[in-house]
Amino acid sequence: MIQVTRSSMPDFQEYCDEIRDLWNSRWLTNMGAKHDQLRGELESYLGVPHVTLFSNGHLALEGAIASMGFPEGAEIITTPFTFVSTTHAIWRNRLNPVFCDIRRSDYTMDPDRIEELITEKTCAILPVHVYGNLCDTDRIGAIAKKHGLKVIYDAAHAFGEIRDGKSAASFGDMSMFSFHATKVFHTIEGGAVCYADDALSQPLDDVKNFGIRGPEEIAGPGGNAKMNEFQAAMGICNLRHLKEEIAKRKTIADLYYKILSGCEGIFLCADQPGLARNYGYFPILLDGPYDRDDLHAYLAEKDVFTRKYFYPLTSSVDCYRNCGGAAETPVADYVSSHVLTLPLYADLAAEDAERICELIIKRR
Ligand SMILES: *Cc1c(COP(=O)(O)O)cnc(C)c1O
Repeated sequence: MIQVTRSSMPDFQEYCDEIRDLWNSRWLTNMGAKHDQLRGELESYLGVPHVTLFSNGHLALEGAIASMGFPEGAEIITTPFTFVSTTHAIWRNRLNPVFCDIRRSDYTMDPDRIEELITEKTCAILPVHVYGNLCDTDRIGAIAKKHGLKVIYDAAHAFGEIRDGKSAASFGDMSMFSFHATKVFHTIEGGAVCYADDALSQPLDDVKNFGIRGPEEIAGPGGNAKMNEFQAAMGICNLRHLKEEIAKRKTIADLYYKILSGCEGIFLCADQPGLARNYGYFPILLDGPYDRDDLHAYLAEKDVFTRKYFYPLTSSVDCYRNCGGAAETPVADYVSSHVLTLPLYADLAAEDAERICELIIKRR
């Protein structure tokens, strides 16, 4: 049986050695030594001035939005072609998502469609570096600047990526990462917000730790989204091996690319020039002789589990019906109903990847 993903794990003994200190210190959470160590390592790995760690990626994104202090009912322009967390993070801050269409070439937000969605209520743009394809950050940044908007990236798929010498963590006002077990780099559950402006540290700390600033000082109604020491220890271990993990993923992705590119009815994302990828996902778009749902079911029968990622569009979820449906984002609607992500993880065997390709090609 081949799952769509499989968590990377450090050697068992390596993790035990990493957490041994915790039995001495008895400091298990609340920004302990492991938390601070991981934060420092991530700041240098990602090449950003500030990282604030969270218990998971969703709360990191919710916290990033909350820390900006947007007025209730304001609008955020975002993409419906994403994990539903992105849209929930906007809604749960009492803000309104406004859905922008995506580009056919790389499935990221289409900069040509943004300005027509801007109203006097718009406060921010929230694009997603989907599958590790980086957004057109230059054009999005220029639009935001022209209209006085903030930009928050959902960079959950782009951990460690670099384009033309620039870290994927450095775009916009803030970038959110997820360190969920299924991601390229993980802390079991976990997440982070990266940013350059020193002034954002305090509001982010407030939202993740009850607004507590001192033993007798509460700044406001913050929540609890702290990363604990066991999570941080897993991150410290995983970061040591990340380079090899990505190299192994690249081998499999290259193999998929070699076999599937040019096949009738199968369309692959165009490579982005200058981008050092993390190979988190391998999406294929199916058309012509293929029916995506049929292939998905057929592969499952053969014990190969692929994912309709992302389907449905978040704009099709009942609670967002009033925010403009799939008809308003035709490219996203098309991609969502034709895309499939293939199994991809560091220790997926090359023979298995070849067999998956064979099954796909035979089903045409
Ligand atoms: C994984 C993911 C999230 C949520 O992160 P969690 O750590 O699972 O809370 C948000 N957005 C995208 C695009 C993701 O892939």
